[in-house]
Amino acid sequence: MAEPVDAERARQLSLFRPLEVSPRDYSICAFYLQAAGYQRNSCGYCKSEHGSASYYTSSVAVKPEHYGELIDRGWRRSGTLYYKQNLQRSCCPHYTLRLEASDFRPRRDQRKAINRWNKFVLGPEYMHKVAHLSPRSRAEKKYRKCNFDLLAAVHEIEYENLKRPIDPGTKRALEPAHRFEVNIEGDSVSQSKFDLFLKYQTKVHQEDVSRWKIKDFQNFLCSGIKRVPASSTKKNVSEKKLGSWHQCYRLDGKLIAVAVLDLVPSGVSSVYVFYDPEYEQWEFGKLTALREIAFAIENEYSCYYMGYYIHSCQKMRYKGNYRPQYILDPESYAWDPLDGELSEKLDQRSYVSLSGDRASSEGEDSKPTSALEPGINEEELSLFDIKMPGVLTLDEVKDLRLDQWYLLYHGTFVQMIDLVGWEDMPMNNPQSLRGIISELAAALGPSVVRNSAVVLFD
Ligand SMILES: [Zn+2]
Repeated sequence: MAEPVDAERARQLSLFRPLEVSPRDYSICAFYLQAAGYQRNSCGYCKSEHGSASYYTSSVAVKPEHYGELIDRGWRRSGTLYYKQNLQRSCCPHYTLRLEASDFRPRRDQRKAINRWNKFVLGPEYMHKVAHLSPRSRAEKKYRKCNFDLLAAVHEIEYENLKRPIDPGTKRALEPAHRFEVNIEGDSVSQSKFDLFLKYQTKVHQEDVSRWKIKDFQNFLCSGIKRVPASSTKKNVSEKKLGSWHQCYRLDGKLIAVAVLDLVPSGVSSVYVFYDPEYEQWEFGKLTALREIAFAIENEYSCYYMGYYIHSCQKMRYKGNYRPQYILDPESYAWDPLDGELSEKLDQRSYVSLSGDRASSEGEDSKPTSALEPGINEEELSLFDIKMPGVLTLDEVKDLRLDQWYLLYHGTFVQMIDLVGWEDMPMNNPQSLRGIISELAAALGPSVVRNSAVVLFD
């Protein structure tokens, strides 16, 4: 038997809920209603009505290290909803992307966006005066001309880092045109964040103002994974942050942009960005991505995750402009460069797994899918019969010994074996409790199963 769960062990576990959650928790849009298990939904990209198929679960308690493992198995979260798409059976497959932050080299247009914004913040008067009062050395000028230092470029205009020599005319320290400040704080909700979000959604995404209530906003962007440290204070400022955070951009004291970030041991995952549409001309999408890459480098997160990549979606192609970019193989979970072979194959067909292609060219029968009968409703099938890529097989799940998986039952941890009738329930029946739990295990993978518990009823 596994060891009993003491308070310390309980704190290390992530919790997952494989059953339907009450609709009031997911009032964002119909898409989130009753999301649990394997479902087909309308596609937000090509608008096909049942084009996208995913496995869903929910949680209010996921540890950052476990979420990191899930990202590397193709999962992503939206609020407290966690999902993994069946790339093989979706019209617009969502590939997981990642960039190795320290290898990143900004393109010309990316460097230009930073330089333009920096000039705007400093203003011509400040720049002119500081060049006289505190001139750069010849060597420094030469270096800057030939090199673009990303970290220096994003930080040098922050108010606290500015050179402010005394202006002999006014006898006061020189002031830039704008006071620009960026801080990182917990993903808590506030009226100013909500107001900014509403402005962004209605102007940039043309959404109706009535669509969003502060509670929806909170569910969507202010209820992420567990934070370490729990808040950002002066004392623990150097501690490596994990969990869900908001990077807040302020200009002259006013909130103008918020980047929602999930920090996991291996990387910085960009969740969402919203900004004041009045500043649209400054390309906040680029500015925030570049700052996040800089953040990853200086805080030693090796990767930067820009979320999903949909090759057929023109609007997403910009993600490929942050190089070198890698794509998660949906079957082997290896990372392949987006350029070259993979990109060429994605031009020809929507579902590509380089490892799967290699296996079938060598004659191995490792294709994960069986062609499902046309017209069959796969939502009624077991995940094991659908053969979703990257999901454990029934035999692999049997090896996980789910009898000992923890179940949080009315506040107490028990084991699956303690459930009445557990041993007689079929694993490959999606309607049986054991079937539901086996599917969750298959989708989460062995490592997360070992460090988690299931919540069924509370
Ligand atoms: Zn689609």
